[in-house]
Amino acid sequence: TSFGFRQVPREEKQSLVRSVFDRSARRYDLMNDVMSLGIHRVWKDITITRANPRPGEVLVDVAGGTGDLARAFLDRAETVRRRAGGPPARAVVADINFEMMRSGLRRGDREDLAWVCANAEMLPFEDRSADCVMIGFGIRNVTDRAAALKQMHRVLKPGGRFLCLEFSRPTTRALARLYDAWSFNAIPALGQLIAKDRDSYQYLVESIRRFPHQQAFRQEVEAAGFANVSVTDLSGGIAALHMGWKL
Ligand code: SAM
Repeated sequence: TSFGFRQVPREEKQSLVRSVFDRSARRYDLMNDVMSLGIHRVWKDITITRANPRPGEVLVDVAGGTGDLARAFLDRAETVRRRAGGPPARAVVADINFEMMRSGLRRGDREDLAWVCANAEMLPFEDRSADCVMIGFGIRNVTDRAAALKQMHRVLKPGGRFLCLEFSRPTTRALARLYDAWSFNAIPALGQLIAKDRDSYQYLVESIRRFPHQQAFRQEVEAAGFANVSVTDLSGGIAALHMGWKL
């Protein structure tokens, strides 16, 4: 009975659709955990600490996906607000993929967080409207990186900060060897096993190799107009955090 051409009642269909998205969101988060051995959580935590969220601030989380960074930013600002007072912080996730944001929304809607479907190369925000702009594991996927960096600079207020968390290059030879074995062999195999999608995870590994190393990317960030740009290697350079300021 269950696989015939039976009309699926509306209620049941809604819950089917819901469970499909639940599964894909869970898989996305699970894959992040598996591929990085859970370490992406630590990297995100360091990013938020460096962003130093304050009450009343506006964050734009570019390529924000399911909204991990935006939520962490808001929670941190709220902790400060409870102690020091002031207005609540607000954030907007801007992502090109509607399904990713829908998965994020399913984790709970909240008043201080907005979702906008937009390309990082053409952000639909006014000049000088944000206190903080961040992009986590997103810049690597952007076609015109220089355009996206300029856009993120444009929407920042003077004095505002930019943070970019991205995979980078291991800084020691021993770590590089281990990392090669992990990413060329284990990640595509795990992608097949968990997400039934070897090709996407193969692409992911290759896109990390193609992305410029720490210092080359730092120059791109500076070329977009950011000042006092710093680079922090995370886990021996497996990821890097670039931070810059709009003066
Ligand atoms: N920032 C989230 C995190 O750290 O968990 C999501 C990272 S996910 C690996 C990359 C995200 O970049 C995806 O949600 C994808 O849709 C988004 N993306 C890719 N190209 C983009 C573009 N040109 N503009 C905006 N978002 C983009």
